[in-house]
Amino acid sequence: MGEKHKSTKPPHVLLFPFPSQGHINPITQFGKRLNSKGVKTTLVTTIYISNKTLSNNTSIPIEPISDGFDDGGHQSADSSESYVNKFREVGSKSLADLIRKLNSEGNHIDAIVYDSFITWALDVAMEFGINGGCFFTQSCAVNNIYYHVHKGLLSIPPNATVSLPGLPNLQPSETPSFVHNPGPYPGWAHGLFNQFSNIHQARWVFTNTFYKLEEEVIEWMRKMWPLKVVGPTVPSMYLDKRLEEDNNYGISVLKPNHTECMKWLNDKPKGSVVYLSFGSGGKLGCEQMEEVAWGLNESNVDFLWVVRETEKEKLPKEFVAKGLVVGWCNQVEVLAHESIGCFVTHCGFNSTLETLSLGVPIVGMPQYSDQTTNAKCLEDIWDVGVRVKADEKGLVRRKNLALCIKEIMEREQGVVARRNANKWRDLAIQAVDEGGSSEKDINEFVFHLKA
Ligand code: UDP
Repeated sequence: MGEKHKSTKPPHVLLFPFPSQGHINPITQFGKRLNSKGVKTTLVTTIYISNKTLSNNTSIPIEPISDGFDDGGHQSADSSESYVNKFREVGSKSLADLIRKLNSEGNHIDAIVYDSFITWALDVAMEFGINGGCFFTQSCAVNNIYYHVHKGLLSIPPNATVSLPGLPNLQPSETPSFVHNPGPYPGWAHGLFNQFSNIHQARWVFTNTFYKLEEEVIEWMRKMWPLKVVGPTVPSMYLDKRLEEDNNYGISVLKPNHTECMKWLNDKPKGSVVYLSFGSGGKLGCEQMEEVAWGLNESNVDFLWVVRETEKEKLPKEFVAKGLVVGWCNQVEVLAHESIGCFVTHCGFNSTLETLSLGVPIVGMPQYSDQTTNAKCLEDIWDVGVRVKADEKGLVRRKNLALCIKEIMEREQGVVARRNANKWRDLAIQAVDEGGSSEKDINEFVFHLKA
């Protein structure tokens, strides 16, 4: 049966990201690359996310499964722990049911590429004799730190400077928040440290980064696992342009104010606009929101600020924005616009890769999770901007924000940051273009699937 199947049908890969926009984007984008190389893919996501999805402009069909929270997703769980436990319990069963269903329809599965957060997907895959590939959506630097915690080689919280293979020395506050301040979300923290529990059984380990960006730590990881470095998973039209019309991620759970953003940006001079976004799930507190709002108005720059509808009530009552505030945008298209001069970012890893791939300098305003480490890398290693300092309450004050924006928009530091960002942009393009390091790793995977 195997022989017949291989000769007549393209290989079929299930893609299974953690159910949130920041995880769906990179894995879907990887799926598009696989499609372009003759591999069929199916995206598995939760019923909740599938129902919320406004559009799927990709050619990747979606198969919904239950995570036990069909009506409200993980936001409706009592705690991160209860979500993680229920997702494992209900998700394992529903993923197995889906595999049975696809098999019974003659829709044979050759591999499951699963999010590194969802270790149990590999157990399910193996029950069916399917190869699993673990996909890390975070940087290798961050994976390295979590790996050392997992192995008991790094204490939580660290009590001194952290020194790990392939990484510069890190202050405890520059490690991910789950390491230096593990309190608030024990379920997520445990999930992140646990990503490596069955990794030795994965047939492939994918990571959304590129060789030149994290060379040393990639070399260190390659010695342990069958690593495939496949990033940056930014839509192709901003990089190698080989996937025609691929100019956005294609699966969105929030509606972008696309026309309004583009119209507004088109009227602005080159490099004059500050773009701000704090990601798809992160929330600023009311006081922080107020500081950002007044900091922007006081700094007298044109700004485009993404404030999700659910966050808008935190804007100060008397605030009349001197820029444009939108509920959601197509971020890559915004970053690619020539009017953009600087990105004030929470430093989520997709945003990090996007800003590097589009050559936009940053002001880093990390909030939690891996963002603190990404911000450190952006400022000190990749040299594409500055981190804005928070006060003793952990809040970024308006004056500091305005000063950092000025530094990037008006001073020599901004010129250097943009020059470096453009250098990373060239390297990102080379990585995914024909013959590049990521292209080579993707081709090797496809070759295994087709062999
Ligand atoms: N994003 C977007 N529109 C917005 C804000 C964000 O399309 O208005 C996308 C952004 O391009 C990125 C993702 O949402 O791909 C956010 O991922 P990231 O890892 O940066 O942050 P997270 O949401 O996981 O905190």
